Amino acid sequence: MPDPSSLYAYLQFFRDLGVTDLYLPASALAAKQSRPSSAALAEAMVAPAQAMSRPVEPMAMPAQARAMAATAGASTASDAPARVSARTGSRPPVDVPDGGGLPSAPLQDPLPVLQAIQADIGDCTRCVLHKGRANIVFGVGDARAKVVFVGEGPGADEDAQGIPFVGRAGQLLTQMINNTAKGEGLAIARDDVYICNVVKCRPPGNRAPEPDEMSTCGQFLDRQLEAIRPKAICVLGGTAAKYLLNTREGITRLRGQWQEWRGIPVMPTYHPSFLLRAYNQDKKREAWEDLKKLFHFVYD
Ligand code: URA
Repeated sequence: MPDPSSLYAYLQFFRDLGVTDLYLPASALAAKQSRPSSAALAEAMVAPAQAMSRPVEPMAMPAQARAMAATAGASTASDAPARVSARTGSRPPVDVPDGGGLPSAPLQDPLPVLQAIQADIGDCTRCVLHKGRANIVFGVGDARAKVVFVGEGPGADEDAQGIPFVGRAGQLLTQMINNTAKGEGLAIARDDVYICNVVKCRPPGNRAPEPDEMSTCGQFLDRQLEAIRPKAICVLGGTAAKYLLNTREGITRLRGQWQEWRGIPVMPTYHPSFLLRAYNQDKKREAWEDLKKLFHFVYD
């Protein structure tokens, strides 16, 4: 029998996406009518009803539900290879990013969903960061982007303009995106991706956001990512990685190794501010390797 909290999390995931009806295959229905076995319940979690407004890529179960179904003896919709490795200890890399079995495309038009999230943020006073901000920095780019870049929080330039990554670090990020794509023969540039941060208001003096600020504001990032459901996420720097991947692992160990957020492959790399420091120039090559890996996975 699937444990109720996992089942709830699974249903909540679809509810967040606006899908409220789940398709119950006839075989599971028959089993359910006699006595609901755990296998039937697990099978019932395979796919939402065909109530979506546009075709989506085949959907399989998230890793958590897959494990539950496997335990229950049901056939799983995706036989992803085991992806556990001891290389990063508490945060094993994902060897083969397969999308984790969840849809690698949004279920509905992301733009109105993003607009609704922004409206929910409103003139936010949920944490202390609102006191020093000039502008809330929500996010920028293509709502249907295949890649989302996630930084930690706005700096002074971003706060002044209300747009993420427009200062010195932002200019480096733009160059990294544009030049890597060009070097790899890919016709994409900054405008084709989506860029946002964990916290939407500038931390004073450009300090790192505190854990409570990240958990308060991070719900909006979570919703942005769920709305866009990109093919991959690039997390920039240790602070954002800490939030998104729920890890204490440093970025030096995480970078270049595929991770996963709610079934979406995540490529961690250095924050551009880190790369701007004179003594970190040699790290630029590693960041370039990370972006090449990311772009080839997403666009090949
Ligand atoms: N650093 C970040 O993490 N985000 C920005 O938007 C700018 C700088």
